[in-house]
Amino acid sequence: MQITEEISLYFHIPFCRKKCPYCSFYVIPENERQEIQLFQALKLEWRLYERFIKKRKVVSIYFGGGTPSLFNPKYIETILSWINPDRSVEITLEANPENICKETVRPLVDIGINRISLGVQSFDEKTLQLLQRGHTPQKASQAIEDVASSGIENISIDLMYEIPTQKIDSWIATVNYALEMPITHLSLYNLTFEPRTVFFKNKSTLVPQLPSSAQSLEMLNFAVDCIEKKLKRYEISAFAKNGFESKHNSGYWKGIDFLGFGPSAFSYWEGSRYQNFCNLQKYSRALDEGKSPIAFTEKLSPTAALHEKLAIALRLLDGVKIAKYPIASEIYHKLINKGWLCVENGIAKLTKQGLLFYDSVAEEIVLLENNFSC
Ligand code: SF4
Repeated sequence: MQITEEISLYFHIPFCRKKCPYCSFYVIPENERQEIQLFQALKLEWRLYERFIKKRKVVSIYFGGGTPSLFNPKYIETILSWINPDRSVEITLEANPENICKETVRPLVDIGINRISLGVQSFDEKTLQLLQRGHTPQKASQAIEDVASSGIENISIDLMYEIPTQKIDSWIATVNYALEMPITHLSLYNLTFEPRTVFFKNKSTLVPQLPSSAQSLEMLNFAVDCIEKKLKRYEISAFAKNGFESKHNSGYWKGIDFLGFGPSAFSYWEGSRYQNFCNLQKYSRALDEGKSPIAFTEKLSPTAALHEKLAIALRLLDGVKIAKYPIASEIYHKLINKGWLCVENGIAKLTKQGLLFYDSVAEEIVLLENNFSC
């Protein structure tokens, strides 16, 4: 039997040496006892889904976090042995520049990791200090060089803008510096103040220090123009060399099923969304007791699922085939009239304005779905 239906797998490794003040992910301090506990729980969770996964074609595996590079590689190797991926599968591991060097990358290459995603955020000393990151600009560039010279060709970095006290000059220097590095992929983010973070609590002090909206737009426009000279923008915030577009993230944007393992991990499976308990003890206790580790489930109606898929797929710059998303034509017309969408040869794409106002585009698609289904 030929297996064609694709799936992506995500493993949440929640360990970090310290918590960054803007981070809203489920993160806990690293220690050996908790590493063993996580591994044992992942093994039990794998057994729950193994039979479904074996019927699918695994296209990508992603170890995210947290800081998966802090997880003992012997556990990652064992997890990969359960999946037994073929050579075409993209296998990404997230790492922080301060804990990656030639000695730590080599074992990862040996066990099959073929893509590293580094949380660089900035090459500006002051910005890194404000974000309370554990690395310096020098350490970040050294980490990238070490990963590249250890045989990993596919290297992604994250850069962040719209940060309190950040100046346009330092942002320009960061972007230019990043493009000199041997990277194949770059993700661009603006800082957001997420509830239950230290930055959120200190919003009243930090917000007045943010760049103005005109400056933030200038930062974004500069970065896009500059990065596009070297890498192709294939998604609103993602740029890649040809052939190095993230298979994992593309799967998410294209709406293919993905299964998430580990505390707080999300899954999207046959039209339903799930999230595991955001607590290692609760998550592993449930599995030990033979219960489900899922804390939250949502089954979307077929129409709502279609609208959500359309909103997510529109993030891709190649656009979407309208025939694949048979929704009320009024929705397309409304977005076209607002100047956010253009349609040509049956393909709908965001315009330049639509790229800037993506959140409003997505909101319109979801809200209009509710209005039309009333
Ligand atoms: S290193 Fe990453 S995952 Fe860990 S606390 Fe900082 S932002 Fe969050």
